[in-house]
Amino acid sequence: MIGSGVLKGMAVTARNFVGSYFDKERLITVQYPEERNPLPENYRNFPFLLYDGDDPHAGLRCVACKICEKECPPQCIYIVKSDDKKPDYMGKPQFYPKVFDIDISVCMSCQICVEVCPFEAIKMDKDFELSRRERFEALLLRKEELSKSNDYYHKICPTDAPEVDAKLAEAAAKKKPAPAAAAPTPTSVPAA
Ligand code: SF4
Ligand code: SF4
Repeated sequence: MIGSGVLKGMAVTARNFVGSYFDKERLITVQYPEERNPLPENYRNFPFLLYDGDDPHAGLRCVACKICEKECPPQCIYIVKSDDKKPDYMGKPQFYPKVFDIDISVCMSCQICVEVCPFEAIKMDKDFELSRRERFEALLLRKEELSKSNDYYHKICPTDAPEVDAKLAEAAAKKKPAPAAAAPTPTSVPAA
């Protein structure tokens, strides 16, 4: 019969509508923004830059190698390398980005920048409440807005973040110079 599919669909809707008054499980909407459904851990939106410790400048992991800028398909990352150097997470002097911008009006959330970064310095964020009244400048995120702490990363990605920490700790341990060989202890001379 023509229209039977529509009637069946309306019956399902009516059953769920009435049922939602008796069974919380049938209520699939929430009163946003007061109520929020938790986001899945692998949900991703736009990238952010990671820093260790409390200082976004001193702890910034990015060394301005520009690999992500080159690999970004829509070319929405813009980096200017610093003239001076600062210690990285292993204490080695490294360049840092004097400018690091991402145009999120162009970013397509592909995560390629994250995949190619050799320093675990850029990760995908879950912040989706980024609407702005202006179309251009307001959607160009600067280094200061992009920089977020490792604690924040642990909060949004409780499975991945400890794995990344372990990987970095292992890399740092491998680069540490081996301890100098212990001096031979003098052998005791037996008394004559
Ligand atoms: S997520 Fe993709 S499009 Fe967005 S900045 Fe990274 S590489 Fe570029
Ligand atoms: S985020 Fe990573 S890949 Fe991009 S410039 Fe910084 S260190 Fe290089």
